[in-house]
Amino acid sequence: MSKLRFDVVQDAFKKRALDVTAPAERPSAYFGELVFNREKMRKYLDIKTYEALVDCIDNGRSLDLATADKVAEGMKEWALGHGVTHITHWFQPLTEVTAEKHDSLMEYDRKGGMIESFNGKSLIQQEPDASSFPSGGIRATFEARGYTAWDPTSPVFIQDDTLCIPTVFISYTGEALDYKTPLKKALKAVSDAAVPICKLFDPKVSKVHSYLGWEQEYFLVDEDLYAARPDLILTGRTLMGHASSKNQQLEDHYFAAIPTRVAAFMKDLEYEGYKLGIPLKTRHNEVAPNQFELAPIFGECNLSNDQNQMIMNVMNKVARKHGFVVLLHEKPFDGINGSGKHNNWSLGTDTGTLLLAPGKDPAGNLQFVTFFVNILAAVQKHNALLKASIASATNAHRLGANEAPPAIVSAFLGRTMTEVLHKLLELPSGTPIEIAGKKETSVGIVEIPEIFVDNTDRNRTSPFAFTGNRFEFRAVGSSANCAGAMTALSGAVAEQLLIFKKALDKELASGKALEVAVMDVLKPIISSIIDVVCFDGNGYTDEWKEEAARRGLDTETSVPEMIKSFTKPESVEMFTSLGIYSPKELEARNEVKWEMYTKKVQIESRVMGRMAINHVIPAALAYQNILLKNLKMMKEAFPDSYQEKAAVTITLIEKISHRIDQLQKGVAKMIEARKSANTIENEYEKAKAYHEIAESLFAIRRPIDKLEEIVDNDMWPLPKYRELLFIN
Ligand code: ADP
Ligand code: MG
Repeated sequence: MSKLRFDVVQDAFKKRALDVTAPAERPSAYFGELVFNREKMRKYLDIKTYEALVDCIDNGRSLDLATADKVAEGMKEWALGHGVTHITHWFQPLTEVTAEKHDSLMEYDRKGGMIESFNGKSLIQQEPDASSFPSGGIRATFEARGYTAWDPTSPVFIQDDTLCIPTVFISYTGEALDYKTPLKKALKAVSDAAVPICKLFDPKVSKVHSYLGWEQEYFLVDEDLYAARPDLILTGRTLMGHASSKNQQLEDHYFAAIPTRVAAFMKDLEYEGYKLGIPLKTRHNEVAPNQFELAPIFGECNLSNDQNQMIMNVMNKVARKHGFVVLLHEKPFDGINGSGKHNNWSLGTDTGTLLLAPGKDPAGNLQFVTFFVNILAAVQKHNALLKASIASATNAHRLGANEAPPAIVSAFLGRTMTEVLHKLLELPSGTPIEIAGKKETSVGIVEIPEIFVDNTDRNRTSPFAFTGNRFEFRAVGSSANCAGAMTALSGAVAEQLLIFKKALDKELASGKALEVAVMDVLKPIISSIIDVVCFDGNGYTDEWKEEAARRGLDTETSVPEMIKSFTKPESVEMFTSLGIYSPKELEARNEVKWEMYTKKVQIESRVMGRMAINHVIPAALAYQNILLKNLKMMKEAFPDSYQEKAAVTITLIEKISHRIDQLQKGVAKMIEARKSANTIENEYEKAKAYHEIAESLFAIRRPIDKLEEIVDNDMWPLPKYRELLFIN
């Protein structure tokens, strides 16, 4: 076995970069090639069908079956040209991976032969056997029917030989069983709530878009090394492994030159992404060794999230071509940074105004401040819910560690906006908010510098940070579906905008000018948030945890507890009044979340136990046997002084015995804890019991890592951190 590790490491080290398959053409030449976008619609649909489809996409109008048939016919013609043989409804169930069931286009032509056939009915709706997807009891297994329904706002795309149709996934009784359905409802709720406010500033506004730009962090591991680590294969993270002598302390990986093998992978990944119409923009080395990041140009939230899901799938396929495996887990390695997925989020009108950036004039600035303040109020009210929206068994390892936002949701404003808010509180309502330097005297006005995105003024410790024209929700995990976080955030914001508008209408009805009325409503909100949710200090400190608790922010660190926030009265009220989730859906989703948490910890705990018994202890015993032989021979050679001469051997034998003993007891205790947890019926209680087990895994890991430190390198069966992290 030791020989095996050595060989694997040698092989991995010798690998060279593969040729890149991306053609020499400019990316703009093949961008969107595999997407049925407007250009293809124009080409493959008659004008009437095209217009009906665009109306459906832009204005939510429904398509009649005859038109859908024509759309399907056009899609088929286009797809056949790309060698497509199958179609699938592509959806996002609560498993956190996308789902697809392929059907071939083949049908009997009733003339004794076969034809490729695709019609409007199978474009619009399908009924996959959905009984094995998590549903939290909404759909008992005897009622297996759920259906998928086309989401025309996200374009159809081709993957290999399959035409993929983005869909929502709903139970037979109408409950959402996926991430997309509630996200779409939440995005609509924000638009509906924001438009009447925007109209006060610009009557031409009829829609408010939510924008998302995700920054996907990930690790790459050589596939041969990966294959020798059962924990990576089964849980996505290393459950054991002594820290490498060198890891990220030299800060020599961040933004460093991209290793050649990795660069080849990235180029191929971008090629595949571009063909799928994903506007990939940024690639770089991240902080931890073998950690990287990928980010697109931001886009409409629902589409951008679909693209994130698509690229997560594509990443692993392309990586395998290059002999890598992608780790999307939030914390694959202990002791070095984990991976997140910052969600850059903003709002903009259909007239082209970005609502989270200062405007061109005092009115535009007032509109900006209106949205800015209301968003902060929403984050404050629902801070526990927002944390719950990013909570998972895997993300739990990352949050609260000294690298990622703490398990407290606060907002970072930066110096400029903090000053603006304080000034607004002091000055009379109606005081113009000017762009700095535009007026000769700055007395009696509030000023925002034209460009105030100061990079040094960025607080990396904040989970929700304002970065100039957007908020960055940084607590989202690298493996998560962004929709979870975006749905909660959008719901919270929509609710607050409605509350604000109601109060504003009252002020306006009393005859106040808009500028005065807006500030009269905003001022008490600013006072209530400025010293609560707004926090510009270091979020990593213990003092902040105490301070946050005093401020009334949620400081819960246990995932099963956090999840409860979804069914607290204020959350239920918010989600149901906006039509995003029904109480039944909220309960069912919590069941799924607890169940998912339990299962993930259960798998980790099993893998940990088996690796301890099957990999680690045998290696330690084998080495101990060598030491014992050495001791025996010492005794024969030096009967009178062997104790002194073999002192090191004796110490090592004792250390190994001690660690094996610790390990064996730890594993036995964990198995008992699991047995007892498995008898619990209630999903919440069971998840709580598994939370204890999750917490105890570290105590088992410690003796393993200690053994790795002393056992003969040749005899250690598992690739070590220094190998996993530095070979590429
Ligand atoms: P950082 O410096 O924070 O690492 P990156 O360049 O890696 O920034 O990623 C920033 C992301 O934010 C990109 O996806 C970018 O398109 C997106 N972004 C920029 N402006 C906005 C905006 N107004 N709304 C939403 N996302 C935005
Ligand atoms: Mg970045």
